[in-house]
Amino acid sequence: MKHVLAALLGLYVGIGAAQAAEPKADSADAFLARAKTAAEFDFPGTLVRICVAPQTAPGADVAPAPPPARDTWYTEPAQVFDNLYFVGTKIHSSWALTSSRGIILIDTLYDYASDEAIVGGLKKLGLDPAAVKYVIVSHGHLDHVGGAKLMQDRFGSRIVMGGPDWDMIEHQVNRFPNGKPKRDIVATDGQKVTLGEGSVTLVATPGHTPGTLSMIFQVKDHGRPLTVAYNGGTAFNFVNDVPHFDTYIASQRKMAKTAADAGATILMTNHSEFDNAVTKIRMMAARKPGEPHPFEIGADAVARYFKVTEACAELARWKLQQAAK
Ligand SMILES: [Zn+2]
Repeated sequence: MKHVLAALLGLYVGIGAAQAAEPKADSADAFLARAKTAAEFDFPGTLVRICVAPQTAPGADVAPAPPPARDTWYTEPAQVFDNLYFVGTKIHSSWALTSSRGIILIDTLYDYASDEAIVGGLKKLGLDPAAVKYVIVSHGHLDHVGGAKLMQDRFGSRIVMGGPDWDMIEHQVNRFPNGKPKRDIVATDGQKVTLGEGSVTLVATPGHTPGTLSMIFQVKDHGRPLTVAYNGGTAFNFVNDVPHFDTYIASQRKMAKTAADAGATILMTNHSEFDNAVTKIRMMAARKPGEPHPFEIGADAVARYFKVTEACAELARWKLQQAAK
């Protein structure tokens, strides 16, 4: 936490100085100022990760590192809305959307965490893991697809993932020492995954990976319906060239429009670093009747999230273009 705060402090001080000097419209300072303005104090983690921290390269096709100690990732599962339950870790999110016909699970963590956090978490919450009929994997990186094989093998859950990401994991030789999920449902843009009254609309947002899926779905807070915009991939650990950033930026704009058209007032992602899910879940314990739900940030803040990702990607693209001159 300390280093994040230090980075933020440096960033805000830096921006303050830059603003005083009126940055040129087409400059690193201008892109950063736009991102910082959009982030306000809602999305510091996203801002620091993609606008400030050094970019990370795509991961190589090597065997994963040994699992970290349990106390670095374990956190209690929780009911967050009438029909949405958190079964993730301190770092990664997995969400269970419940309906009268079963459960739609969104993302499956690393494989080392999936049995205890998802299967154990559902049981702890009084839910039946065998009721998970669909598993939507936002993208094929190990921290989201890790438990898909377990859900497929043990409970017969249908696995939904973008076609290019099915291809991606099938081509990987070393990354899945414990096996991969078998190719199942290939997601299409605009597809609805429906179970009883529960439904998730998939939005193809290539960029973070070629098959990244974002989502729109409805939750209820004491019976009041609210719409969630779920951003399926955020960091820039893809091939860093201009065409990849063009794709990423187009997807963020597309998802911003989709979220606005759907009236989304909640923004979720698959890393707590980006949406503060674990912190907000802790805050829920102190929520008094009549107070807003910690996840309900409003349509303006949802729109600002996508301005952060867009401006930071534009900054990264601009740097590449400058370097090529
Ligand atoms: Zn990823």
